[in-house]
Amino acid sequence: MKIRVNQTKLALVSLFLISTMPILAQVSKPNILVILCDDLGYSDVGFNGSKDIITPELDKLAHDGTIFSSAYVAHPFCGPSRAALMTGRYPHEFGAPYNLPDMGMNMKDGVPVEETFFSNALQQAGYYTSAIGKWHLGYGEQFHPNNRGFDDFYGFLGGGHDYFPEDFKVKYDAQIKNGNKNIYAYLKPLTHNKEEVDEKEYITDALSREAVRVIKEAKEKQKPFFMYLAYNAPHVPLEAKEEDLKVFEHIQDKDRRTYAAMVYAVDRGVGQIVNKLKETKQFENTLIVFLSDNGGNIEHGANNFPLKGTKGDTYEGGFRVPMFFHWPNKVPAGKRFDYVVSAIDLYPTFVKLAGATIPEGKKLDGKDIWSNFLDGKNTHKDDMIYAVRYRFGFSDVGARKENYKIVKAGPNSKWKLFDAKNDPSETKDLSGKFPKILKEMVDETKKWSESHVTPLWFDNKKGEEMWFNTNMPNYDKAFKLD
Ligand code: CA
Repeated sequence: MKIRVNQTKLALVSLFLISTMPILAQVSKPNILVILCDDLGYSDVGFNGSKDIITPELDKLAHDGTIFSSAYVAHPFCGPSRAALMTGRYPHEFGAPYNLPDMGMNMKDGVPVEETFFSNALQQAGYYTSAIGKWHLGYGEQFHPNNRGFDDFYGFLGGGHDYFPEDFKVKYDAQIKNGNKNIYAYLKPLTHNKEEVDEKEYITDALSREAVRVIKEAKEKQKPFFMYLAYNAPHVPLEAKEEDLKVFEHIQDKDRRTYAAMVYAVDRGVGQIVNKLKETKQFENTLIVFLSDNGGNIEHGANNFPLKGTKGDTYEGGFRVPMFFHWPNKVPAGKRFDYVVSAIDLYPTFVKLAGATIPEGKKLDGKDIWSNFLDGKNTHKDDMIYAVRYRFGFSDVGARKENYKIVKAGPNSKWKLFDAKNDPSETKDLSGKFPKILKEMVDETKKWSESHVTPLWFDNKKGEEMWFNTNMPNYDKAFKLD
């Protein structure tokens, strides 16, 4: 009799464990929301000290989370930076150091499918995955977001887009009417998955609306979600809504005012997203990662203070970006993290957090930073963080290790050494004082450059001709110390 009772109890306990296991497993998987801005300057958000642009929603998340002062991307402009984020590797190693063209070239290229994106890994681990906004990672069918680990895609495949449908539709229709087969990607209709849609809202608002939709759907599906929300704002063309421009009437410079209003529209959208996460009770279990794909373009309204340089440069202003993590009770609140981290670290970090598996044979340059980050420790103690940008006939290089940074920028420039932590404006060249450190860092960067391959595509015909006519990448010249 006694034995029978115990058996019943055991059976009940087993039944309870089996029935609750999937729920427990599901709860333990965090939602991951990556909010990527395009060409957002280092100090163009309140949480990084902007004096004229207000970003209350982003600031609240940043201050309730951890702000990274030394977050880098792997390239100082759009396409290669995004390719690195998605693959966890430097784009030079798999032929993607150039932007994909937005018109006039063979628009069938894309990031090689052998470079499995982390979205694939998360999708396989049971995540509802979505990409919203700018893609810029490939035009051909095999490169479409739906074929690269994203269940849902809403946005545009090119490197940017005009913002007002009432304007870009007119331009697009006129080109169709004229029989133009080579239409600029910035004017093309947005798509949901592979179907064209008749978008009617200001693009930034449309992308925020779609993010809210996906958050609602994830709740209905009872699945953890991964969302890659890639706003094209505040990338050119500088186009803002009247209601947002009104907020910045105090800014005299027209470009800066429009740019500020575009950033504010993103911030407004982030507020809607946070509200939906809270309303659906997913906020507490969501890691929010906010960053920019490269530095701000100071010719078009951005401000990278105190960093030197602009988008495209291997100075800090080219590839050191604003970034924060937010996750209630998981990510330390009200903290700053000053050690170097890179966008290529997100791949292994997310895969680990999601309980997913790194695809077999996948090469990674980034590292899982999670436990070190929580402990306030440096993951990249002995690692170099690189940026190489190809110009016409020469290569610009920047590389940081711990506090030191080496830079070569310009056709006949000399190598310089800076203390990037204490001198982010790169004003005091230390190469004469520490020649040994300079040489070691240049040698290490040169060794890494041996992993680079010939680009698979070029952003324009001139770039392609230049590459072959001027013997690019000219690394012999680039890595020569004199
Ligand atoms: Ca960009």
